[in-house]
Amino acid sequence: MQILLVEDDVLLADGLRTALRREGFSVNHVATGKDALAALITNQPEIVILDLGLPDMDGLSVLKQLRADGKGPHVLILTARDATEDKVSGLDLGADDYLVKPFDMPELLARLRALERRTGAVRTGRISNGRVELDTLAHSVSVDGKELDLPRREYMLLKALMENPGRVLSRESLEEKLYGWGEELASNSIEVHVHHLRKKIRADFIKTVRGVGYTVSKP
Ligand code: CA
Repeated sequence: MQILLVEDDVLLADGLRTALRREGFSVNHVATGKDALAALITNQPEIVILDLGLPDMDGLSVLKQLRADGKGPHVLILTARDATEDKVSGLDLGADDYLVKPFDMPELLARLRALERRTGAVRTGRISNGRVELDTLAHSVSVDGKELDLPRREYMLLKALMENPGRVLSRESLEEKLYGWGEELASNSIEVHVHHLRKKIRADFIKTVRGVGYTVSKP
């Protein structure tokens, strides 16, 4: 699940990014409204965490532009503004949720999981495909009922593929899901993760579509 974090408080953004990545979310961070609007186009996140007090424009204007075409990602407003009229404006402009700072991390994570379920990719938290079962709430993977201990990026890669069975995901789109902007990655990172997953699950569970990317078959 790709999250765009729009937050100009550097310390808060760092803390959030770390906590969200630990939860298995893939996070890109921007600190201005202008960068947020650019990232929405290039990055196509599924969820946006939106601060309202941004240095260059009001977060509500970002929300307005984002909703202009009636589509777009789920938006959770995360702000110190606790006035009812701010909440009402935010929700009326198409925000899905509103959380006031200071907030508790477990509550934010629970609300993000709720939004994640609403994206439709994950309805129950459990995705089964043959002998493999992935539980997005427990962040666990089992093969024939036996739990696997997967590093975070292997889990995220497997989750991305299992959420889109029958679809080929390009190496670039997988890199985007697994790594944030500016993060160092070797050119063969995805291949290495796939190699490890095949060894742990089954050699042919993840198929290579030469020159295109990777896929898992429909269950
Ligand atoms: Ca702010």
